[in-house]
Amino acid sequence: MKPFDIVVVGGGGAGLYAAMEAMKVNPSLNIAVLSKVYPNRSHTSAAQGGANAALANKAKDDTVDMHIFDTIKGSDYLADQDAVEILCSEAPRIIRELDNIGTPWSRMDDRTIAQRPFGGAGRPRCCYCADKTGHTILQSLYEQCLKKGVFFFNEYFVLNISAGGSKSRGLVAMNMRTGKVEAFPARTVILATGGYAKMYWNRSSNAAGNTGDGQAIAYRAGIPLKDMEFVQFHPTGLRKSGLLVTEGARGEGGYLVNSEGERFMKNYAPEKMELGPRDLVSRSIETEILEGRGFDSPAGPYMHLDLTHLGGDLIKSRLPQIREMSMYFEGVDPIDEPIPIRPTAHYSMGGIDTDNDGRTVMEGVYAAGEAACVSVHGANRLGGNSLLDILVFGRITGRTAAEEARQFEPDEIPSSEVSAIEEELREYMRPSGHYERYGALREELGQTLAQNVGIFREKSKIEKGVKDLAELKERFQHVRVFDTSDVYNTNLMQVMELRNMLDLAQTVAAGALAREESRGSHTRTDFPVRDDEKWHKHTLCTWEDGSPKLDQKPVTMGKYELQERTY
Ligand SMILES: Cc1cc2nc3c(=O)[nH]c(=O)nc-3n(C[C@H](O)[C@H](O)[C@H](O)COP(=O)(O)OP(=O)(O)OC[C@H]3O[C@@H](n4cnc5c(N)ncnc54)[C@H](O)[C@@H]3O)c2cc1C
Repeated sequence: MKPFDIVVVGGGGAGLYAAMEAMKVNPSLNIAVLSKVYPNRSHTSAAQGGANAALANKAKDDTVDMHIFDTIKGSDYLADQDAVEILCSEAPRIIRELDNIGTPWSRMDDRTIAQRPFGGAGRPRCCYCADKTGHTILQSLYEQCLKKGVFFFNEYFVLNISAGGSKSRGLVAMNMRTGKVEAFPARTVILATGGYAKMYWNRSSNAAGNTGDGQAIAYRAGIPLKDMEFVQFHPTGLRKSGLLVTEGARGEGGYLVNSEGERFMKNYAPEKMELGPRDLVSRSIETEILEGRGFDSPAGPYMHLDLTHLGGDLIKSRLPQIREMSMYFEGVDPIDEPIPIRPTAHYSMGGIDTDNDGRTVMEGVYAAGEAACVSVHGANRLGGNSLLDILVFGRITGRTAAEEARQFEPDEIPSSEVSAIEEELREYMRPSGHYERYGALREELGQTLAQNVGIFREKSKIEKGVKDLAELKERFQHVRVFDTSDVYNTNLMQVMELRNMLDLAQTVAAGALAREESRGSHTRTDFPVRDDEKWHKHTLCTWEDGSPKLDQKPVTMGKYELQERTY
């Protein structure tokens, strides 16, 4: 295959924005997007609530500076302040740009773009398309990419970065339709493969494919991962499935109520109430449950999200998908009854370490979106800032790659590398005496993470998690793929995803064990206080002979000094 100038891995918002922007910078570039699902089925399409920008349409006194401060405070001061400044300053422009390419933002009566309140934000600045924001953004971007001539390789599963020394030669991927392993030589590669919160398999809001493939591929190629221990639990997952009920439901005025009929958030965040930041609200719900003020059910304890006072008209017009999901998955119509909810694993603050232009330490490899860690979310992301992140940094990274691509000489990917990977895949299918099943390992992975490296963490529990993960990795050596066919071998792909999740889970647990403080989403019951002197630092994690090796990196400060974080 002729080398591409840019190969983007991932057809979500980050990947598509990067491809669109790169084409805009230089229309003569040869750009491909590889995606294991059809682009408009990427997890971005599940985003409901919206994207933040200080447009000052709803609150006339909102400013970019307020958005910056809210984001830094929300991050528990772990975000890099220069990166946050880029994120928030670019926000108004990016929302208008999407408006220009056809994203149907909801409007206010004066026809300006509507904005709703979101958690941890001082002003209502979340722009939305009812509760289907991600879906509409993704459609607009996909149309533009097709129009501009981006090549799409849909249903290709990327397995590896081919590296020659400190430089990438491109990628090796499997055509899922045929099972054929193919080389994709490329001057530059952008990893935009989304998050890894699906490793908390049994209770997660994420799509089944959010298995951190790009992070795992980068990690094994020697690229450091950053702040992997910070995993966000969203306060309101549906009780049985963990599927998401957007923060927009509380933004529109929903209440959280315990079994004593009390809006308990008054005891935890008296000012912000239900619109406290996610880390705080999730911890508060779990504390209420631990102290016996939750509701019981065969599907486990839960809390009430009450929207009944909002009225049918508002629920039908602003939260139609939430109503549908509640009726379908819980048998509850939120117009008449409260929705049963419990926190659910939702978002990866950590990811591939990049600079503010999307570069990684490996020449020719870039990363953007939830797969990357710039870092703008630090220890806790604010709702509505992730769609913004994938758009702003998707665009920046696309631009960087477009400007730098022609500086790199294309290189062939040795055919021996492709055949070695083919052989490795076939090895999983060989009958052997002792074997392990994929489903059992995945289930146990989810369980040990939820129990030992979940919302509340402590030394002995995390150590148990570390031990379990080592055992699971050992057992994975014997995993067997029973489907031996070439065509759409989903069993094989799930095994590849499991391998990625196991490698990444070790980086999450290693970071969580080392960080002896509580900051943002990382709550150590044995170290309940934030310790800026020792831990106001990013964690870096590198692959060393199959195990995570930890290091640190300073946090970039700006005009905002460290402060205690209260709401
Ligand atoms: C239910 C839900 C609701 C959300 N709501 C909001 C919200 O309202 N506001 C907000 O700001 N954020 C929200 N978020 C977070 C936000 O949607 C995500 O962080 C963001 O969409 C991620 O975009 P992305 O482009 O980085 O990755 P994704 O959209 O996840 O796309 C990843 C892409 O990578 C591809 N890929 C992955 N692995 C491979 C591989 N091995 N080979 C080939 N391709 C691969 C996939 O096919 C996919 O195309 C929500 C998240 C969830 C789960």
